[in-house]
Amino acid sequence: MTYTVRQSLTALCCGTAAFLKMTVEQTLADLVAIDSVSSRSNADIISYLQTRCAAFGFETKTLSHIDESGIEKINLVALTSRQESKSPSPLSSAGALQIELALVGHTDTVPYDPNWTDALTLTEKDGRLFGRGACDTKAFIAAALTATETIDLSKLNKPLALVFTSDEEIGCLGAKRLADAKPLTARHAIVGEPTSLQPMRAGKGYCLAELTVRGREAHSAYPQLGASAIFRAARLIERIERIADALKSDRREGFDPPYTTLNVGIIKGGTAKNIVAGECRFTLEWRTIPGQASDHVLDLVRQSIDELKKGDPEFLCEIDANRFDESFATRADSPLVEFLERASGRPSGTVAFGTEAPSMISLGADAVVFGPGDIRVAHRTGEFVPLRQLNQCVQVLRQAIEKFCG
Ligand SMILES: [Zn+2]
Repeated sequence: MTYTVRQSLTALCCGTAAFLKMTVEQTLADLVAIDSVSSRSNADIISYLQTRCAAFGFETKTLSHIDESGIEKINLVALTSRQESKSPSPLSSAGALQIELALVGHTDTVPYDPNWTDALTLTEKDGRLFGRGACDTKAFIAAALTATETIDLSKLNKPLALVFTSDEEIGCLGAKRLADAKPLTARHAIVGEPTSLQPMRAGKGYCLAELTVRGREAHSAYPQLGASAIFRAARLIERIERIADALKSDRREGFDPPYTTLNVGIIKGGTAKNIVAGECRFTLEWRTIPGQASDHVLDLVRQSIDELKKGDPEFLCEIDANRFDESFATRADSPLVEFLERASGRPSGTVAFGTEAPSMISLGADAVVFGPGDIRVAHRTGEFVPLRQLNQCVQVLRQAIEKFCG
Protein backbone atom coordinates (compact mmCIF):
# COMPACT_ATOMS: atom_id res chain seq x y z
CA MET A 1 0.00 0.00 0.00
CA THR A 2 1.04 3.60 -0.44
CA TYR A 3 0.45 6.43 1.99
CA THR A 4 -1.26 9.62 0.97
CA VAL A 5 0.48 12.76 2.01
CA ARG A 6 -1.10 15.39 4.22
CA GLN A 7 1.96 17.50 4.91
CA SER A 8 1.68 20.60 6.93
CA LEU A 9 -1.27 22.07 5.06
CA THR A 10 -3.79 20.05 7.02
CA ALA A 11 -2.18 21.06 10.25
CA LEU A 12 -1.89 24.67 9.21
CA CYS A 13 -5.65 24.70 8.69
CA CYS A 14 -6.64 22.59 11.65
CA GLY A 15 -3.89 23.21 14.21
CA THR A 16 -2.29 20.76 16.62
CA ALA A 17 -5.22 18.35 16.57
CA ALA A 18 -4.48 17.36 12.98
CA PHE A 19 -0.97 16.29 13.93
CA LEU A 20 -2.18 14.43 17.00
CA LYS A 21 -4.09 12.00 14.84
CA MET A 22 -1.06 11.20 12.74
CA THR A 23 0.57 7.82 13.03
CA VAL A 24 4.31 7.49 12.81
CA GLU A 25 3.89 5.95 9.33
CA GLN A 26 1.86 8.94 8.18
CA THR A 27 4.52 11.30 9.47
CA LEU A 28 7.20 9.28 7.71
CA ALA A 29 5.14 9.43 4.49
CA ASP A 30 5.05 13.23 4.76
CA LEU A 31 8.81 13.41 5.30
CA VAL A 32 9.64 11.01 2.45
CA ALA A 33 7.39 13.03 0.10
CA ILE A 34 9.58 16.09 0.58
CA ASP A 35 12.60 15.73 -1.69
CA SER A 36 15.58 16.61 0.48
CA VAL A 37 18.54 15.24 -1.45
CA SER A 38 21.68 16.98 -0.17
CA SER A 39 22.25 18.87 -3.43
CA ARG A 40 18.94 20.75 -2.92
CA SER A 41 17.94 23.25 -0.29
CA ASN A 42 16.38 21.58 2.77
CA ALA A 43 14.13 24.62 3.34
CA ASP A 44 10.92 22.67 2.56
CA ILE A 45 11.49 19.87 5.02
CA ILE A 46 12.69 22.32 7.67
CA SER A 47 9.55 24.40 7.17
CA TYR A 48 7.43 21.27 7.66
CA LEU A 49 9.32 20.29 10.81
CA GLN A 50 9.23 23.82 12.18
CA THR A 51 5.45 24.00 11.71
CA ARG A 52 4.99 20.72 13.51
CA CYS A 53 7.32 21.54 16.36
CA ALA A 54 5.70 24.96 16.84
CA ALA A 55 2.22 23.38 16.84
CA PHE A 56 3.29 21.29 19.84
CA GLY A 57 4.62 24.16 21.85
CA PHE A 58 8.30 23.99 20.99
CA GLU A 59 10.21 27.21 20.57
CA THR A 60 12.01 26.94 17.27
CA LYS A 61 15.17 28.54 16.01
CA THR A 62 16.69 28.15 12.56
CA LEU A 63 20.33 28.60 11.64
CA SER A 64 20.58 29.24 7.94
CA HIS A 65 23.57 29.46 5.68
CA ILE A 66 24.32 29.57 1.95
CA ASP A 67 26.51 26.71 0.77
CA GLU A 68 29.29 26.73 -1.84
CA SER A 69 26.74 26.28 -4.66
CA GLY A 70 24.69 29.25 -3.47
CA ILE A 71 21.97 27.03 -1.97
CA GLU A 72 20.34 27.71 1.39
CA LYS A 73 20.90 25.03 4.04
CA ILE A 74 19.19 25.21 7.40
CA ASN A 75 19.61 23.64 10.83
CA LEU A 76 16.53 23.68 13.06
CA VAL A 77 16.60 23.60 16.85
CA ALA A 78 13.27 23.11 18.63
CA LEU A 79 13.25 23.56 22.40
CA THR A 80 10.70 22.98 25.10
CA SER A 81 9.97 26.42 26.39
CA ARG A 82 8.21 26.03 29.72
CA GLN A 83 10.99 24.66 31.85
CA GLU A 84 12.05 28.02 33.33
CA SER A 85 9.76 27.83 36.31
CA LYS A 86 10.88 24.32 37.25
CA SER A 87 14.62 24.44 36.78
CA PRO A 88 17.30 27.12 36.66
CA SER A 89 17.30 29.26 33.55
CA PRO A 90 18.35 27.28 30.48
CA LEU A 91 20.49 30.22 29.50
CA SER A 92 24.02 29.48 30.63
CA SER A 93 26.46 32.26 31.41
CA ALA A 94 27.90 31.84 27.91
CA GLY A 95 24.46 32.35 26.42
CA ALA A 96 24.09 28.81 25.07
CA LEU A 97 20.94 26.93 25.98
CA GLN A 98 21.56 24.00 28.27
CA ILE A 99 19.60 20.98 27.19
CA GLU A 100 19.14 17.74 29.09
CA LEU A 101 18.33 15.55 26.09
CA ALA A 102 18.69 16.28 22.38
CA LEU A 103 17.20 14.06 19.67
CA VAL A 104 19.22 14.70 16.52
CA GLY A 105 18.29 13.74 12.96
CA HIS A 106 19.62 14.84 9.60
CA THR A 107 17.07 16.05 7.07
CA ASP A 108 19.04 15.37 3.90
CA THR A 109 19.20 12.13 1.92
CA VAL A 110 21.46 10.66 -0.71
CA PRO A 111 20.22 11.00 -4.32
CA TYR A 112 17.87 8.42 -5.83
CA ASP A 113 17.80 6.68 -9.19
CA PRO A 114 15.21 8.37 -11.47
CA ASN A 115 13.99 4.85 -12.36
CA TRP A 116 12.87 4.42 -8.75
CA THR A 117 9.54 6.11 -9.46
CA ASP A 118 8.21 5.55 -5.91
CA ALA A 119 11.25 7.05 -4.23
CA LEU A 120 9.16 9.87 -2.75
CA THR A 121 6.05 7.80 -2.04
CA LEU A 122 6.20 5.75 1.13
CA THR A 123 5.10 2.25 0.23
CA GLU A 124 4.43 -0.63 2.61
CA LYS A 125 5.06 -4.24 1.72
CA ASP A 126 5.37 -7.15 4.14
CA GLY A 127 5.85 -4.92 7.17
CA ARG A 128 8.54 -2.83 5.46
CA LEU A 129 8.23 0.84 4.56
CA PHE A 130 10.07 1.75 1.35
CA GLY A 131 11.13 5.22 0.17
CA ARG A 132 14.23 7.42 -0.17
CA GLY A 133 15.25 8.38 3.35
CA ALA A 134 12.71 5.96 4.87
CA CYS A 135 15.62 4.27 6.59
CA ASP A 136 18.30 6.98 6.61
CA THR A 137 17.21 8.94 8.56
CA LYS A 138 13.63 10.13 8.21
CA ALA A 139 12.40 7.11 10.18
CA PHE A 140 14.21 8.40 13.25
CA ILE A 141 12.82 11.92 12.72
CA ALA A 142 9.29 10.55 12.38
CA ALA A 143 9.78 8.52 15.56
CA ALA A 144 11.14 11.54 17.44
CA LEU A 145 8.18 13.71 16.40
CA THR A 146 5.66 11.00 17.27
CA ALA A 147 7.30 10.37 20.65
CA THR A 148 7.25 14.05 21.63
CA GLU A 149 3.70 14.50 20.42
CA THR A 150 2.40 11.84 22.81
CA ILE A 151 3.93 13.61 25.80
CA ASP A 152 2.66 16.69 27.63
CA LEU A 153 5.69 18.90 27.11
CA SER A 154 4.48 21.40 29.71
CA LYS A 155 4.99 18.74 32.40
CA LEU A 156 8.66 18.18 31.60
CA ASN A 157 11.06 19.37 34.28
CA LYS A 158 14.20 19.57 32.17
CA PRO A 159 14.76 20.99 28.69
CA LEU A 160 14.37 18.77 25.64
CA ALA A 161 15.57 19.68 22.15
CA LEU A 162 14.85 18.30 18.73
CA VAL A 163 17.75 19.10 16.42
CA PHE A 164 17.31 18.69 12.66
CA THR A 165 20.41 19.22 10.56
CA SER A 166 21.44 19.66 6.92
CA ASP A 167 24.13 18.09 4.75
CA GLU A 168 24.97 15.02 6.85
CA GLU A 169 25.37 12.86 3.77
CA ILE A 170 28.07 15.09 2.33
CA GLY A 171 30.29 15.30 5.40
CA CYS A 172 28.13 16.09 8.46
CA LEU A 173 28.44 19.75 7.46
CA GLY A 174 25.26 21.00 9.17
CA ALA A 175 26.14 19.40 12.50
CA LYS A 176 29.66 20.80 12.29
CA ARG A 177 28.26 24.29 11.72
CA LEU A 178 25.99 23.79 14.70
CA ALA A 179 28.95 22.70 16.82
CA ASP A 180 30.81 25.85 15.76
CA ALA A 181 27.84 28.17 16.40
CA LYS A 182 27.08 26.51 19.77
CA PRO A 183 23.46 27.67 20.11
CA LEU A 184 23.05 25.02 22.80
CA THR A 185 24.91 22.60 24.98
CA ALA A 186 23.43 19.20 25.72
CA ARG A 187 24.03 16.65 28.43
CA HIS A 188 22.72 13.69 26.42
CA ALA A 189 22.17 13.28 22.70
CA ILE A 190 20.59 10.47 20.73
CA VAL A 191 21.87 10.78 17.17
CA GLY A 192 19.51 9.13 14.71
CA GLU A 193 21.05 6.73 12.21
CA PRO A 194 19.96 3.26 11.11
CA THR A 195 21.50 0.90 13.69
CA SER A 196 18.66 -1.66 13.78
CA LEU A 197 17.92 -0.18 17.24
CA GLN A 198 21.29 -1.15 18.68
CA PRO A 199 22.83 1.68 20.71
CA MET A 200 26.23 2.59 19.26
CA ARG A 201 28.43 4.36 21.76
CA ALA A 202 31.64 4.72 19.74
CA GLY A 203 32.72 5.25 16.17
CA LYS A 204 35.89 5.59 14.16
CA GLY A 205 36.91 8.91 12.68
CA TYR A 206 37.19 9.55 8.97
CA CYS A 207 40.05 11.49 7.40
CA LEU A 208 41.06 12.10 3.83
CA ALA A 209 44.04 13.65 2.06
CA GLU A 210 45.31 13.94 -1.49
CA LEU A 211 49.04 13.62 -1.95
CA THR A 212 50.85 14.95 -5.01
CA VAL A 213 54.36 13.65 -5.62
CA ARG A 214 56.43 15.72 -8.04
CA GLY A 215 59.08 14.46 -10.45
CA ARG A 216 60.77 15.76 -13.57
CA GLU A 217 59.70 14.73 -17.06
CA ALA A 218 62.21 13.31 -19.53
CA HIS A 219 62.34 10.99 -22.54
CA SER A 220 62.13 7.48 -21.11
CA ALA A 221 65.22 6.48 -23.14
CA TYR A 222 67.19 8.90 -20.94
CA PRO A 223 65.69 8.48 -17.48
CA GLN A 224 68.82 9.91 -15.89
CA LEU A 225 67.70 13.32 -17.22
CA GLY A 226 64.49 13.24 -15.21
CA ALA A 227 63.03 11.89 -11.99
CA SER A 228 60.00 9.63 -11.96
CA ALA A 229 57.12 10.86 -9.80
CA ILE A 230 55.65 7.36 -10.03
CA PHE A 231 58.74 5.63 -8.63
CA ARG A 232 58.81 8.24 -5.86
CA ALA A 233 55.12 7.74 -5.08
CA ALA A 234 55.65 3.97 -5.03
CA ARG A 235 58.39 4.34 -2.42
CA LEU A 236 56.13 6.52 -0.30
CA ILE A 237 53.15 4.18 -0.64
CA GLU A 238 55.29 1.23 0.38
CA ARG A 239 56.09 3.16 3.58
CA ILE A 240 52.43 4.02 4.07
CA GLU A 241 51.66 0.30 3.97
CA ARG A 242 54.26 -0.19 6.72
CA ILE A 243 52.58 2.58 8.75
CA ALA A 244 49.26 0.76 8.37
CA ASP A 245 50.89 -2.42 9.65
CA ALA A 246 52.47 -0.66 12.64
CA LEU A 247 49.14 0.94 13.61
CA LYS A 248 47.60 -2.52 14.08
CA SER A 249 49.25 -2.77 17.49
CA ASP A 250 47.20 0.17 18.87
CA ARG A 251 43.90 -1.59 19.46
CA ARG A 252 40.41 -0.66 20.66
CA GLU A 253 38.44 -3.82 21.23
CA GLY A 254 34.83 -3.61 20.11
CA PHE A 255 35.76 -2.29 16.67
CA ASP A 256 36.02 -4.37 13.53
CA PRO A 257 38.91 -4.27 12.81
CA PRO A 258 40.08 -2.96 16.23
CA TYR A 259 42.71 -0.56 14.87
CA THR A 260 43.08 2.47 12.59
CA THR A 261 42.89 1.48 8.93
CA LEU A 262 44.48 3.19 5.91
CA ASN A 263 43.55 3.04 2.25
CA VAL A 264 45.12 4.38 -0.94
CA GLY A 265 41.98 4.31 -3.05
CA ILE A 266 42.93 6.20 -6.21
CA ILE A 267 46.27 6.76 -7.91
CA LYS A 268 46.91 8.71 -11.08
CA GLY A 269 50.24 9.62 -12.63
CA GLY A 270 52.21 10.09 -15.81
CA THR A 271 51.16 11.12 -19.29
CA ALA A 272 52.60 8.50 -21.69
CA LYS A 273 54.42 5.17 -21.61
CA ASN A 274 57.63 6.70 -22.93
CA ILE A 275 57.75 9.77 -20.71
CA VAL A 276 59.30 9.77 -17.26
CA ALA A 277 56.35 10.78 -15.09
CA GLY A 278 56.38 14.35 -13.86
CA GLU A 279 53.53 14.01 -11.40
CA CYS A 280 51.70 11.30 -9.44
CA ARG A 281 48.66 11.91 -7.24
CA PHE A 282 46.98 9.53 -4.87
CA THR A 283 44.30 9.64 -2.19
CA LEU A 284 44.95 8.52 1.36
CA GLU A 285 41.99 7.76 3.56
CA TRP A 286 42.25 6.71 7.20
CA ARG A 287 39.71 5.79 9.86
CA THR A 288 40.98 6.48 13.33
CA ILE A 289 40.13 4.65 16.53
CA PRO A 290 38.99 6.77 19.50
CA GLY A 291 41.84 8.16 21.55
CA GLN A 292 44.16 8.52 18.58
CA ALA A 293 44.60 12.05 17.21
CA SER A 294 43.11 12.36 13.75
CA ASP A 295 46.35 13.85 12.39
CA HIS A 296 48.56 11.09 13.84
CA VAL A 297 48.65 9.22 10.52
CA LEU A 298 49.58 12.41 8.69
CA ASP A 299 52.48 13.01 11.11
CA LEU A 300 53.78 9.51 10.36
CA VAL A 301 53.46 10.13 6.60
CA ARG A 302 55.38 13.39 6.94
CA GLN A 303 58.16 11.56 8.83
CA SER A 304 58.34 9.07 5.96
CA ILE A 305 58.63 11.91 3.46
CA ASP A 306 61.47 13.42 5.50
CA GLU A 307 63.26 10.05 5.51
CA LEU A 308 62.85 9.68 1.74
CA LYS A 309 64.28 13.17 1.29
CA LYS A 310 67.50 12.02 2.94
CA GLY A 311 68.20 9.65 0.03
CA ASP A 312 66.57 11.88 -2.62
CA PRO A 313 66.93 15.58 -1.76
CA GLU A 314 64.58 16.56 -4.58
CA PHE A 315 61.79 14.34 -3.29
CA LEU A 316 58.76 16.62 -3.21
CA CYS A 317 55.31 15.71 -1.95
CA GLU A 318 52.45 18.13 -1.31
CA ILE A 319 49.70 17.08 1.06
CA ASP A 320 46.18 18.47 0.78
CA ALA A 321 44.43 17.17 3.88
CA ASN A 322 40.82 18.20 3.50
CA ARG A 323 38.82 16.13 5.95
CA PHE A 324 39.29 15.36 9.63
CA ASP A 325 36.14 13.86 11.12
CA GLU A 326 36.82 12.96 14.72
CA SER A 327 36.25 9.55 16.20
CA PHE A 328 34.00 9.38 19.24
CA ALA A 329 33.47 7.28 22.31
CA THR A 330 30.91 7.65 25.07
CA ARG A 331 31.60 5.82 28.35
CA ALA A 332 29.96 2.41 28.65
CA ASP A 333 28.57 3.47 32.05
CA SER A 334 27.00 6.68 30.76
CA PRO A 335 23.35 6.83 31.91
CA LEU A 336 22.31 7.24 28.26
CA VAL A 337 24.18 4.11 27.14
CA GLU A 338 22.79 2.11 30.05
CA PHE A 339 19.27 3.38 29.41
CA LEU A 340 19.35 2.58 25.67
CA GLU A 341 20.81 -0.88 26.31
CA ARG A 342 17.96 -1.62 28.72
CA ALA A 343 15.24 -0.09 26.57
CA SER A 344 16.37 -1.78 23.34
CA GLY A 345 17.40 -5.05 24.98
CA ARG A 346 20.68 -4.93 23.07
CA PRO A 347 24.28 -4.37 24.22
CA SER A 348 25.98 -1.23 22.94
CA GLY A 349 28.29 -1.50 19.94
CA THR A 350 30.38 0.59 17.57
CA VAL A 351 29.79 2.06 14.13
CA ALA A 352 32.17 2.08 11.19
CA PHE A 353 30.46 4.95 9.32
CA GLY A 354 30.62 8.68 9.95
CA THR A 355 27.93 10.26 12.12
CA GLU A 356 27.04 13.55 13.77
CA ALA A 357 27.93 12.17 17.21
CA PRO A 358 31.33 13.92 17.41
CA SER A 359 29.60 17.30 16.84
CA MET A 360 27.16 16.57 19.66
CA ILE A 361 30.05 15.56 21.92
CA SER A 362 31.68 18.89 21.19
CA LEU A 363 28.42 20.46 22.43
CA GLY A 364 29.00 18.68 25.73
CA ALA A 365 26.86 15.60 25.23
CA ASP A 366 27.17 11.93 25.99
CA ALA A 367 26.18 10.90 22.47
CA VAL A 368 24.84 7.56 21.31
CA VAL A 369 23.90 6.67 17.73
CA PHE A 370 20.60 4.85 17.59
CA GLY A 371 17.71 4.38 15.20
CA PRO A 372 15.45 2.05 13.27
CA GLY A 373 16.48 0.41 9.99
CA ASP A 374 19.64 -1.27 8.81
CA ILE A 375 22.57 0.80 7.50
CA ARG A 376 23.24 -1.95 4.94
CA VAL A 377 20.00 -1.08 3.10
CA ALA A 378 20.43 2.69 3.49
CA HIS A 379 21.60 4.53 0.35
CA ARG A 380 20.25 1.72 -1.85
CA THR A 381 17.41 1.88 -4.33
CA GLY A 382 14.55 0.37 -2.36
CA GLU A 383 15.81 1.35 1.08
CA PHE A 384 13.28 0.53 3.77
CA VAL A 385 12.61 0.60 7.48
CA PRO A 386 10.81 -2.28 9.22
CA LEU A 387 7.52 -0.98 10.63
CA ARG A 388 8.04 -2.89 13.88
CA GLN A 389 11.37 -1.17 14.52
CA LEU A 390 9.84 2.20 13.69
CA ASN A 391 7.11 1.71 16.31
CA GLN A 392 9.62 0.36 18.82
CA CYS A 393 11.78 3.44 18.30
CA VAL A 394 8.82 5.68 19.18
CA GLN A 395 8.46 3.81 22.48
CA VAL A 396 12.17 3.99 23.31
CA LEU A 397 12.38 7.71 22.53
CA ARG A 398 9.27 8.42 24.60
CA GLN A 399 10.82 6.55 27.54
CA ALA A 400 14.08 8.46 27.02
CA ILE A 401 12.27 11.81 27.19
CA GLU A 402 10.41 10.74 30.33
CA LYS A 403 13.58 9.47 31.99
CA PHE A 404 15.91 12.35 31.18
CA CYS A 405 13.52 15.30 31.06
CA GLY A 406 10.55 14.12 33.15
ZN1 LIG B 1 22.22 8.99 7.88
